[in-house]
Amino acid sequence: MSFSQKLDSWYTDFGRSLPWRGIDDPYRIWLSEIILQQTRIEQGRDYYHRFLEAFPTVADLAAASEQQVLRLWQGLGYYSRARNVHAGAQYIMQECRGRFPDTYEGILRLKGVGRYTAAAIASFAFRLPYPVIDGNVYRFISRLHGIATPIGTAAAYNEFEALLLKQMDCRHPDRFNAALMDFGSLQCKPRPDCEACPFADECVALRTGRIELLPVKPAKARPKDRWFYYLHPRWQEAGREYTVMQQRTDQDIWRGLYQFPLLEADRELSDGELQQAMRRFAEENFQFPIPDAQCSPTFLHQLTHRTIHARFVQAQLPSRPTLLPENMRCLTAGQIKDFPLPRLIDRYLRQL
Ligand code: SF4
Repeated sequence: MSFSQKLDSWYTDFGRSLPWRGIDDPYRIWLSEIILQQTRIEQGRDYYHRFLEAFPTVADLAAASEQQVLRLWQGLGYYSRARNVHAGAQYIMQECRGRFPDTYEGILRLKGVGRYTAAAIASFAFRLPYPVIDGNVYRFISRLHGIATPIGTAAAYNEFEALLLKQMDCRHPDRFNAALMDFGSLQCKPRPDCEACPFADECVALRTGRIELLPVKPAKARPKDRWFYYLHPRWQEAGREYTVMQQRTDQDIWRGLYQFPLLEADRELSDGELQQAMRRFAEENFQFPIPDAQCSPTFLHQLTHRTIHARFVQAQLPSRPTLLPENMRCLTAGQIKDFPLPRLIDRYLRQL
């Protein structure tokens, strides 16, 4: 039996049934692929349905505001994916007259779409013969052939793509790719079930005792520490509590999302330093003294390349600040819920 026949037979018995499988709507496939980057299927499934409910077509997504898109994306992280998918929808409506690109090269022009995602859309929606190579496929194929090239580079992608192209069932690239992804994810897992594997008799890693060593991953840089000190001003107005939220506008993490006014330091501040720095910060931004500020414990928030150490300083203001910088606005607790927030801010608000 050939590689693709063995794979296909395994897929018939064990393949997953997923809402974005067995369809050829490129918009839905694109959405699912972007959502599933860096996200587990169980979590991604809910977001996929929520997105389709809010934006059933690419035209609906293109017409939405960035704030609506980010609000729906809240909790998934990697917010550049949401901004890219939104920009991609606008590109399709404006530059492609509403028609989803139907070539691999055309799909690659969508913002945030790399070779893996383009291959997935091209094969699932248009039956084009491009193998998909995600982390699970790298693991399976590197073990099967004993390939020690560090993964995640363009050179590794070329090498694995060339190999898979020779083995692909080009009449059914969609099914071949779905089987490949499922096999890597369910069978050739980090701790694989080799006894039940149809490739056991030809697997180089199994024969040479290198299962734990493959795939070879590139060395990871240590995440950088950042210290975020948030001012949480509060005051009463007409029986309701208000605060100030600030939109992040810099080319940085969480761009477009809302947070409390932020004072970032280049090191950890002691309680005394924090009180002093925050007093100055409040006076500069709100022209109010904050004598009775309360500091929260540190919230640790881990991102792929950053470790955020955050503290929140609550301060009672006598009344609404009259002068606010352009990217800040006064909101009630109920109104905050309508704005897209980083998960860190959401965690803090839930603990209040
Ligand atoms: S034998 Fe084990 S390591 Fe090799 S491909 Fe099968 S599951 Fe993966």
